[in-house]
Amino acid sequence: MSAEPVLYRAAWVCPVVQPPIQNGCVLVVDGRITAVQAFRDSMELPRFCRTVDLGDVAIVPGLVNAHTHLEFSKLEQPLGKPGIKFADWMRLVVGQRNGNDLLAKHRAIVAGVKESFQAGVWAVGDIATDPVGENSYLAVEQNTPVHTTVFLEQSGRKEASREQQRSELDVHLLKNDLVPESFACGASPQATYSVTWTLLSQICAAAKKHQGIVAMPVAATLAERQLCDSVTGDFVELLQEFDSWDPESFTPRRSIKAFLGRLSQAPQSLVVHGNYLDADELDLIGRNKNMSIVFCPRAHQFFKHSPYPLQEMLKREINVAVGTDSRASSPDLNLFADLQLIAADFPELSAMEVLKLGTVNGALALGKQNDLGTLAVGKQAAISCVINEDLNVGRNLASLDEWLFDSKSRCEPVAGVGR
Ligand SMILES: [Zn+2]
Repeated sequence: MSAEPVLYRAAWVCPVVQPPIQNGCVLVVDGRITAVQAFRDSMELPRFCRTVDLGDVAIVPGLVNAHTHLEFSKLEQPLGKPGIKFADWMRLVVGQRNGNDLLAKHRAIVAGVKESFQAGVWAVGDIATDPVGENSYLAVEQNTPVHTTVFLEQSGRKEASREQQRSELDVHLLKNDLVPESFACGASPQATYSVTWTLLSQICAAAKKHQGIVAMPVAATLAERQLCDSVTGDFVELLQEFDSWDPESFTPRRSIKAFLGRLSQAPQSLVVHGNYLDADELDLIGRNKNMSIVFCPRAHQFFKHSPYPLQEMLKREINVAVGTDSRASSPDLNLFADLQLIAADFPELSAMEVLKLGTVNGALALGKQNDLGTLAVGKQAAISCVINEDLNVGRNLASLDEWLFDSKSRCEPVAGVGR
């Protein structure tokens, strides 16, 4: 990061907290934003201030990828074919995971953060399966300015391993007090079908104690709903296969709504996917402002799920963030491509509404709203820009809405900024 003040100017600045500014600029001093406004030749600038004109691009806040699994970042393509049954895909994931040793995981995490940053992402919410994984993130931190929140995955339908898991999670969450600000620790109950009610309750209690965020995939598939409702369906066989089947642990039965109710008791929680949440469940999330939902558009498309209830969520003023999920179900970690898919599938949303999902909403979901998510005075200079070399980027507001998420646009970090 350069200590000298820098004024970045461009055809457009999209602060997200206010309407786009034509011929705008962002002043950065000591890694923080000190002004966001229309550019004027007569502007009063700090001494030794350098001006960098980025040209016909749109400056945007650094993107936030609220849900991924970096350990799969070395995969060249998703596992299985599009439309694969989720239980079959899980079998492939477990096989892949078993073949990954610690060093391979470390390399994948490093590669994943680098790939994310190259696509203009400044914060990542990662699900980690290994408690020593944070060494990898700290190594990464020396080379990129990406904020990482590491959610340690917890699973188990059997009682035996619980004590060990609990102390592992406590140690993980304790790091919230020790590590740099840009690195945070949270917990991730793996899924409604692979954690018991007691384990989920313990995770939420530990999160409360250590101010950690809890991220949990919920209602990702219809098979998951079936298991919760009637303890039947694809997941019964899958759990038996993985020697995790314990029918007693389903008594009493817990509904999807009950799981959400418990998650609402964590200081802050991310409901990941939520592809098949019903109106009542969405109402519950809408009432609890400490809860967010993470939509993973390209992974959603890969599994050929029913249309995503995004409008139902937004109508309830739910904080919807966006994630890539992993390369096991998505072609890459380019969050901007997920935003492009949202813009294409939900043409009723304006470009600024789509941008909000991938910036400020993600920052809120990961508790990073004081530093990231918008271009505003006091925020970290985590800035990216959207470029489209194929179009003659117009300088009127209507055209910005048309080209920002055009299929030929791309996002990258603005060179030279960082913390
Ligand atoms: Zn996931």
